[in-house]
Amino acid sequence: MVEKKYHCPRCGNEDIVDYTDSFDCPSCGFEFDKKDCDELEDSQILSVEEKLGITEALDLDQKKNQTNSQD
Ligand SMILES: [Zn+2]
Repeated sequence: MVEKKYHCPRCGNEDIVDYTDSFDCPSCGFEFDKKDCDELEDSQILSVEEKLGITEALDLDQKKNQTNSQD
């Protein structure tokens, strides 16, 4: 298995903390999914924290929509 060298999409730091499916940038303090780095341009990559925030916002929207449709 060839190990791909990942870098932080935010600051370009290659001195990252490697996890199995993700990595951490110590200088930004963000965690990124390796999958995103494989599939997306650096400028399109969101940190795990940002993605969770977006997911929660979408969940809230869906709940609102469900509530509205019951009227
Ligand atoms: Zn960084």
